[in-house]
Amino acid sequence: MGAIMIQWYPGHMAKAKKDITAILPLIDIVFELVDARIPKSSQNPLIDEIIQKKPRLVLMNKRNMADPIQTKKWEKHFKELGFGVLAVDAISGYNINKITSIAKVQLKDKILRDEKKGMKVQRLRAIILGIPNVGKSTLINRLVKRRLTAVGNRPGVTKAQQWIRISPAIELLDTPGILWPKFADEVVANNLAISGAIKSEILPIITIGEYFLDFLRKHYPTLFFQRYQVDINLENKELAKEIVLKHGILQSDYYERAFQIIINDFQSMRLGNITLDQI
Ligand code: GDP
Repeated sequence: MGAIMIQWYPGHMAKAKKDITAILPLIDIVFELVDARIPKSSQNPLIDEIIQKKPRLVLMNKRNMADPIQTKKWEKHFKELGFGVLAVDAISGYNINKITSIAKVQLKDKILRDEKKGMKVQRLRAIILGIPNVGKSTLINRLVKRRLTAVGNRPGVTKAQQWIRISPAIELLDTPGILWPKFADEVVANNLAISGAIKSEILPIITIGEYFLDFLRKHYPTLFFQRYQVDINLENKELAKEIVLKHGILQSDYYERAFQIIINDFQSMRLGNITLDQI
């Protein structure tokens, strides 16, 4: 997890973009995979420019971890942009069986055009695109129902690609296209670190923790209280002390320690269903 991300540099990004742009003419539909807890922060900043007008199905993965009310709102948002959208869970398989039928709805214009020309549609081709750790490999494994050799987080798409039929009409490229997130944006960097998509070491834990605490105060104070029985409106250091005391001994690094506890609880869903990108 994670360490990969900080190895991205402009050369990687240029290569990823070039690889994906090169393969797009072969593709009928893009499955853009995002993390349902951070539907915006887990998007690639150049995705619109890279895939242009190609039909798109936004798959909001890790749905079981996100706030269902927010997920509904994000679904509506993506639909309004003209994309297909589906909240899925690559691990449990929730909604995975709906992917191909929704993809066909997004592709109905092409299917109709081909039929008018008297062409029988032989196959529609799809690719999965997304930033690291959104669940691309897990989803591909689910869809193709077999273990794939690890492809690693190399930029772009790798050479030895195979098309795998995931339904009578649709073939999926077995290698996902790996894109980068919007590193430079502070909110995005915090959200990626909190969700575990990037190693928290790239930002100081205190920076991430203070951001998360403010976020929880604003959006999920009840969940916080349910977990810790601590008043979220206490001053940060007081609050940190109380949380650490509940977990053991108060030591000089209690402030960092409290944030580690809270973030760890979030990632393991002990805080409940939370969406970091609020819409
Ligand atoms: P990739 O880098 O996009 O290929 O992401 P991976 O498939 O390697 O997944 C990254 C992490 O997210 C792994 O720990 C997966 O087990 C986890 N993961 C993937 N899909 C889901 C999901 O739907 N729900 C949950 N809870 N975790 C998931």
